[in-house]
Amino acid sequence: MKAIDHKGQFKQRVRLWADKLDVKIVWLGVRPMRNKWASCSTAGHLNFSDELPALKSELWDYVIVHELLHFSVPNHGKLWKSLMRAHLGEYEAYEGELKQIAGNKAQQRTLTLLNLSLNDHYGACPRTTMGTKRKSTGKS
Ligand SMILES: [Zn+2]
Repeated sequence: MKAIDHKGQFKQRVRLWADKLDVKIVWLGVRPMRNKWASCSTAGHLNFSDELPALKSELWDYVIVHELLHFSVPNHGKLWKSLMRAHLGEYEAYEGELKQIAGNKAQQRTLTLLNLSLNDHYGACPRTTMGTKRKSTGKS
């Protein structure tokens, strides 16, 4: 049985994006992560869930660019959003897909993965966390 080396391809893609975005990666890992798609640190460490390479490449790009942008923009503010859009276009659609995939997984495992905080992802990053969207109660 010869499996396609998705993991290798995925890592190559990360390196490509890192070049493009001028990010220096010190460590790149793909490993099991139960509750999130990726994490990054200011020291240049990047880890991705090993479930990610099995997904379609548009979703790779979403998570990769999301994390790489955090090296220069440590939040999900206006700048981050405009950079995401510049590189990925309508990135919200991918975000939704990832959440759906994560939601299905959480159901299958009957585990409550939803609100784990991510200290290694700049405090909390609800977007690459495997979990459902936090319900917005609106302004009122
Ligand atoms: Zn983030």
